[in-house]
Amino acid sequence: SAPLARAESLILEIPDYPSPGILFRDITPLLADGDALRATVDALLAPFAGTFDVVAGLEARGFLLASAAAYASGTGLMPIRKSGKLPRPAAAMAYALEYGTAEIEAHADFPAGTRVLVIDDVLATGGTLAAARELLTGLGYAIAGTAVLFEIDGLGGREALGDPALHTVFSS
Ligand code: IMP
Repeated sequence: SAPLARAESLILEIPDYPSPGILFRDITPLLADGDALRATVDALLAPFAGTFDVVAGLEARGFLLASAAAYASGTGLMPIRKSGKLPRPAAAMAYALEYGTAEIEAHADFPAGTRVLVIDDVLATGGTLAAARELLTGLGYAIAGTAVLFEIDGLGGREALGDPALHTVFSS
């Protein structure tokens, strides 16, 4: 569609950010455009209508898309946070970064079997979303699918995730 094509043109490529050799995809111009944002959120949700009970978003940019998706689909929202940010006891999952490790956390506020649609902005190596899926299945939830705005090809993210229901709107 025209708004989706427009949305794709609003994803900027920023060389050497946040460190030399990294080509960073900046989605803030897409977020700034109302038609592009709506078309993108609709496209994220399109394959999953009626298949999930809650939308989980990854801190921080995943929150922006997941909250719009939850509102659009009339479901609740589950923030998956970086460690140490949640006020109550939370399940945690550690994962490897290029240098060191990171940890994400979620409260156990939903019943076992809750169907979760996981949303993030960018898929690179897949480490973040793989950890999110492990975290959620460890809490007894069912993964309805994974939806990502932009898939960076050639970093093995899709393979690392091994999710047959992975849906990405844009890629390169
Ligand atoms: P991965 O774990 O290597 O797949 O990296 C994905 C995570 O890093 C996501 O939560 C993204 O928000 C972030 N990320 C990685 N590369 C980019 C990028 O080029 N633009 C924006 N976010 C990125």
